[in-house]
Amino acid sequence: MELTVTLQKVFGTFSLDVDFVVRGERIGIFGPSGSGKSTLVSLIAGLNHPDRGRILLDGEPVFDKAARIDIPTDLRRIGMVFQRPHLFPHLSVRGNLLYGFKRSNRAHRKITLNDLVEVLQIGHLLDRGVKNLSGGEKQRVAIGRAVLSNPRLLLMDEPLSALDDTLKFQIIPFLTHTCEAFHIPYLFISHSLTEMRIMADRVLLMDGGRMAGQMGAEELARASAGERTRPYTNLLRLRAPRRVDGLHAYKWGDRELLISGGDDNPEALFELPSTDIIIFKRHPEAISARNLLKCRVAGTFETNGRIALELECGTEHLVALVVKEAVRELAITKGIKVYAAIKATAFRQLG
Ligand code: ADP
Ligand code: MG
Repeated sequence: MELTVTLQKVFGTFSLDVDFVVRGERIGIFGPSGSGKSTLVSLIAGLNHPDRGRILLDGEPVFDKAARIDIPTDLRRIGMVFQRPHLFPHLSVRGNLLYGFKRSNRAHRKITLNDLVEVLQIGHLLDRGVKNLSGGEKQRVAIGRAVLSNPRLLLMDEPLSALDDTLKFQIIPFLTHTCEAFHIPYLFISHSLTEMRIMADRVLLMDGGRMAGQMGAEELARASAGERTRPYTNLLRLRAPRRVDGLHAYKWGDRELLISGGDDNPEALFELPSTDIIIFKRHPEAISARNLLKCRVAGTFETNGRIALELECGTEHLVALVVKEAVRELAITKGIKVYAAIKATAFRQLG
């Protein structure tokens, strides 16, 4: 997917003025509240109209002021998911799901109700009304409705912001699996760095109605690595847990990690703060930490007065944040081997 946007829009004292091209399938829009993210996607969807400029989707104009092109929202084939599900209260789950499908052009109907129900696991809800669904179920139906309209681009405006953490990380796999299974490119809006790293490869940075830049999601995480309020956090996707002495041993690349939380699901996502990793230059004989990983220092970068060590642990990577004095005293340089100690309790399960 390629999106080319050059536009201006003024709302009273706020002005949106952007000029960018972005390519990819999993694109994030990241920026503080009030920076213009929702305004931008409403213009792309055709819910609002720019004062000037043009919007091209895969080279085809959906809006071009000078050429007097303004394709109506329904014909743009752009799906939307919002923070609140906005389901139609008088329709059943099935009715809600089929709403966009029925209005879509037959030639574009590649995704069917049956395919979708399987991926979103909502078969048992089809004949129910939408009033008594749980928050997570409602949001799954809203995602399904948008996907069933067979869009060529899906716009998701903070679809997870209203959900608590538990629910959020239950919904994320449905979102990612659905978009992957049906090859739907998306723009995913959020002000959460964690959500960006999970949902996006490429991130557009918005600030004060302007596009402040574009970078990889991991690059963005590293750029803010040294922040005192929230230093860099490692995200680890772990597999195949087995129970060991009241802990869970998960596979992480060709290594194994012992974690005090966890469950029996075959895959899980964990956070590990970069400040919770202790570095030893030589093998510590006896330590209480349950994880001791021999790794190679693949690189270092300075951030906010601290040093981030990029550790290569077999096929996987970790970032450990240490103070400058420690790096100097231990003479840690690129290429050397170190031992990283991590307590079993340092991991926090996200989903
Ligand atoms: P974000 O989604 O990044 O939080 P928004 O795009 O919602 O930011 O809002 C950006 C600015 O645009 C805000 O100052 C908001 O008040 C203003 N704005 C958005 N839509 C309208 C509108 N329809 N009328 C007037 N002002 C608006
Ligand atoms: Mg918004």
